[in-house]
Amino acid sequence: MLVDQFGRTIEYLRISITDRCNFRCQYCMPLEGLPWLPKDDILRYEEITEIVRQLAPLGLKRIRITGGEPTIRPQLARLIRMLRDVSAVEDIALSTNGVKLPEMARELRDAGLDRVNISADSMRPERVKAIARRDLNFDIVRAATAAEDAGIGPIKLNVVVMRGINDDEIADFAALTHDHPWHVRFIELMPVGELRDLTFDHVVPTAEVLDRVRTLGDIEPASGPARGNGPAVYWRFPNALGTVGVITPMTHTYCERCNRVRLTADGRLRTCLFGDHEVLLRDALRAGQPLEALFRQALADKPKEHELLQMRVGGLRALSQVGG
Ligand code: SAM
Ligand code: SF4
Repeated sequence: MLVDQFGRTIEYLRISITDRCNFRCQYCMPLEGLPWLPKDDILRYEEITEIVRQLAPLGLKRIRITGGEPTIRPQLARLIRMLRDVSAVEDIALSTNGVKLPEMARELRDAGLDRVNISADSMRPERVKAIARRDLNFDIVRAATAAEDAGIGPIKLNVVVMRGINDDEIADFAALTHDHPWHVRFIELMPVGELRDLTFDHVVPTAEVLDRVRTLGDIEPASGPARGNGPAVYWRFPNALGTVGVITPMTHTYCERCNRVRLTADGRLRTCLFGDHEVLLRDALRAGQPLEALFRQALADKPKEHELLQMRVGGLRALSQVGG
């Protein structure tokens, strides 16, 4: 078992497979991109699978593939199939901006993908372009429907709420849950990377988000999607097919029940989204050494809570670089 110094059992790994992206979301990546990782530093699919194979006997059960944008790395379905073959892995999820889901959903499902989180900051085409700063004809309803039709589920839509930018769509997003079995989650904007200036003025606290949801009618606490294992708290409208969730990195802490670690695209095991708590696995892996001692070394350094809570926000990196 992998248990950290605070007694938290680790059973969930988020794997970033690329630091690159076809979007340039205002809150995540500068328009000109970031200094990309050298190709040779990026783990091959065989190397990622080997790390998972070595973590599995220690209690790893669930995996999420993320980035950057994971769907732009070639042969994603091949990786999913390889991870599916590691017998202890019960659940494989994907975080994506959804642009490529209409063309890829069925192939990913056939390879063994269980569920998907899709980023969804607006339903208005002009606004999608303004936030993502790329014109890729993205439509969140089309992307989520493609995933649903392919049999992927549960489907979660992640909305980063920004005051004055998309907060007037909170009710529109919540309304989707009446007729679709989708889980719409509102995320508090976090001050990361070079885009810190965008943030504090633009953070909409969750209490305010829920007030705007309630303009559509009463909501009641809900258990959320099956197999959910993250920091969201869920609500639902009576008789709605889906739920409304809130994720509150800025105003609450869920660190005490954190069950996750992250693998960066260049093979570092990170034990917190924020800060520099990480151990390089790549060199030992490539030298053919067993990794368990490094896993345990990383866990020994997993912090009690993340640095946002201590308001030490100076050194935060873009989420695309750390596998947000
Ligand atoms: N490209 C994929 C996507 O957009 O879903 C996966 C990687 S992305 C870094 C993962 C999640 O981080 C997305 O839901 C995105 O909205 C969120 N994210 C990125 N920067 C953020 C920020 N500054 N505050 C809150 N959420 C952020
Ligand atoms: Fe790309 Fe996701 Fe970051 Fe947007 S949030 S720039 S889609 S990695």
